[in-house]
Amino acid sequence: MNTPRIATLWLDGCSGCHMSLLDTDERLLDLAAMLDVVYSPLMDVKTFPEAVDAVCIEGAVSSKEDERKLVVARQRSRFLIAMGDCAVTGNVPAMRNVVGAERILRSVYIDQDPLNPLIPADNLPVLNSKALPLHCFVQVDLFIPGCPPAADTLFAALSAVAAGKVNDLRLATRFGA
Ligand code: SF4
Repeated sequence: MNTPRIATLWLDGCSGCHMSLLDTDERLLDLAAMLDVVYSPLMDVKTFPEAVDAVCIEGAVSSKEDERKLVVARQRSRFLIAMGDCAVTGNVPAMRNVVGAERILRSVYIDQDPLNPLIPADNLPVLNSKALPLHCFVQVDLFIPGCPPAADTLFAALSAVAAGKVNDLRLATRFGA
């Protein structure tokens, strides 16, 4: 069996889920021996590669840019894991949904910044009207809840990927497009 190729992707999240992945501590060495990490914010690769066996995605979908990254990751990955509550339910990013993107931007950048009241316009992705979980856009094969998810749970899931047992992880009922 070829070494499974895995990726991790960071959308609208705080990076805590990736930190939890690092919290597997010395077991990272076991994972490194069993998996080929081909794309991650933890490494310097710019383009999401083809033929990925499993991708772990942190964060909600909050912009067209997030949507684009998610769709590419879905198209190029055999197995997609929603990693953490933001990816599973929207969680913290979705708290803005009740007031709307424009009002949040105004509150943060204008109302609470009397010294330089300006909504940054350059090089920032335009926010969607709502932050939504992954399954609103693509099929998700495994949901790992938690804020952040437990390192042990992430390790167990990635160990199953490494052992070629992703089918054991698939939910009987899938959600998503
Ligand atoms: Fe951060 Fe929690 Fe969201 Fe993970 S689930 S990105 S730890 S807020």
